[in-house]
Amino acid sequence: MNFEEELTKGNFTIPECLSCKKIIWPPAEFCNVCYNETGLKTGQFTGKIIEYSKQNEEYFCMVEFLDSFRLMAKTNDKPEIGKIVKITKCGILNGNYFFQII
Ligand SMILES: [Zn+2]
Repeated sequence: MNFEEELTKGNFTIPECLSCKKIIWPPAEFCNVCYNETGLKTGQFTGKIIEYSKQNEEYFCMVEFLDSFRLMAKTNDKPEIGKIVKITKCGILNGNYFFQII
């Protein structure tokens, strides 16, 4: 499981248990249900904006993925609740996960 390594390269992957297929969020090396190892799903994932707030000129959105977990993502355009979005940029900034959407 090298979620953070992929994230550093700008790739958004989703950790999933190799055995029971549960999505593991926050990312972890082992499944919290069956304790087997996790792997990384890759692809063009879409998420849904659940809520957002504005801070200075930026918007911070709570985005839900695969009906199973939520993460905070930034955008410059005014978000719409329920809108389907993609992560356009991601990485680790000052020790924190960083996601940007359009
Ligand atoms: Zn499992």
